[in-house]
Amino acid sequence: MEIRILGAHSGEAKGARMTSILIDGTIALDAGGLTASLSLAEQQRIRAILLTHHHFDHSRDLVTLGANGAFFKQPVEIFALAETFEILKDCLLDGKIYADFSKWPSKEKPFLVQKTVEPLKQQNICGYGVLPVSVQHEVPSVGFQITAKDGKSLFYTGDTGQGIADCWRNISPDLLIVEVSGPDKSQDYFNRIGHLSPELLQKVLTEFRGVRRYLPRVVVIHIPPSHQREVEREIKIVARRLQTRIDIGREGMKINL
Ligand SMILES: [Zn+2]
Ligand SMILES: [Zn+2]
Repeated sequence: MEIRILGAHSGEAKGARMTSILIDGTIALDAGGLTASLSLAEQQRIRAILLTHHHFDHSRDLVTLGANGAFFKQPVEIFALAETFEILKDCLLDGKIYADFSKWPSKEKPFLVQKTVEPLKQQNICGYGVLPVSVQHEVPSVGFQITAKDGKSLFYTGDTGQGIADCWRNISPDLLIVEVSGPDKSQDYFNRIGHLSPELLQKVLTEFRGVRRYLPRVVVIHIPPSHQREVEREIKIVARRLQTRIDIGREGMKINL
């Protein structure tokens, strides 16, 4: 499995794109930084997009991909919770801010095909086992465990806060891609809205180790560009304390599992 980080941030600036990951060129996890990262030919190879939740930094490129889709031969399937589609249809794909690509070019054969997922219901998507698992965020959200045919798997949390021990009980990935949304000084705020700081990451990884008896390789994304250095410094301390490897995800980073 080739995992390519397209967007490793919660905000956008030169060199920093919103959250998106591409697996073997065909499945995208979240659509925050999809289109600016990929050539048109690469965009046409995407067969499925798995959305963790509706927030703009994870969903915005449904619109930009939809606009390019006029020239694509095949549609793209979007997998998300019913609650996520509810918001997207009112706020992003509402047919007012731009075309509604879930009904375009026709209602019967749209470019973006909506497929609902439910937590803990595994399904086969493009030959991968995909398991959505509920996480703690201010809106309904899931992380996804993706398992390839050779048995290798990754888990991507999407946006989450602490309190996900139940989530860890349902997965056993070789690679964990997890969010950290800012420095430790924002911890109280993050606890209210469901995000992680480096210290909260330490807590959830300690829980993971307690539940699963190992720690996978960890890659952190969703760092705000404005706090990059501070967060990286704090994550280094966490890695030292846990005596484990924690990589900072970067745009263009490739990981082979
Ligand atoms: Zn969010
Ligand atoms: Zn986010």
